[in-house]
Amino acid sequence: MSPEKTPAATPPRLIVFSGAGLSAESGLSTFRGKHGLWENVPLETVCNFATWRQNFDAVHEFYNARRIAVAAAKPNQAHAAIADWQKRWPERVRILTQNVDRLLEQAGCHSVVHLHGDVHLMHCVACDLEWETEVLAYDHSGCPLCHQTKTVKPAVVFFGQPAPHYETLYGIAASLRPADTVVVVGTSGAVLPADQLFGNSRAFSILVNLEPGAEMDEASFTERHYGPATQLLPALTETIRRRIEA
Ligand SMILES: [Zn+2]
Repeated sequence: MSPEKTPAATPPRLIVFSGAGLSAESGLSTFRGKHGLWENVPLETVCNFATWRQNFDAVHEFYNARRIAVAAAKPNQAHAAIADWQKRWPERVRILTQNVDRLLEQAGCHSVVHLHGDVHLMHCVACDLEWETEVLAYDHSGCPLCHQTKTVKPAVVFFGQPAPHYETLYGIAASLRPADTVVVVGTSGAVLPADQLFGNSRAFSILVNLEPGAEMDEASFTERHYGPATQLLPALTETIRRRIEA
């Protein structure tokens, strides 16, 4: 007999991966799709790390409007369902979001990984300082540390900019086991390939989107649910309970 002990099985985990569709029912526009924010403003103007300084005023104008909209929004029943899961199984739940709002936190979630940053934070690309904005519309007061003015951008990950939390995301995706459950909610998969990361993983994967889309191989998910997240997420609680308490 081997003297080595079999390591205790790691308990089943729940990973929640969300996108703009989660906050859509709180009145925040999604970026893509019909009536998406990027229908009106070209994303290469306001969300491109290579050119943002050339479009400095347009970038701040766009994110000021986002910050004002986010400040007026309230968490919905889908955010509340995720907060409920984390409250029930605090050690088992990891929450990853592409959203730059804080509606998950307002619903009671904690330790949320914001893969694409946080619209309430500003970032100075010269000295790397990140700080909480005190005003909804950026007043061009410059960086509190190095005092430069044209180096300040919202702490939102732009296209072409390194995303420091992607390492966490890929690490979690690579570590998934059959006992784990992943809920992917409100994302088209256009920016991050949730089908590759989670649908094709070994975990039990559940996709929740308003309607089917063409950006992902949605058949790769174990289950697909289409409709409003505010109705579908609370209804998943029993399925998740059975899997996580198994
Ligand atoms: Zn600075």
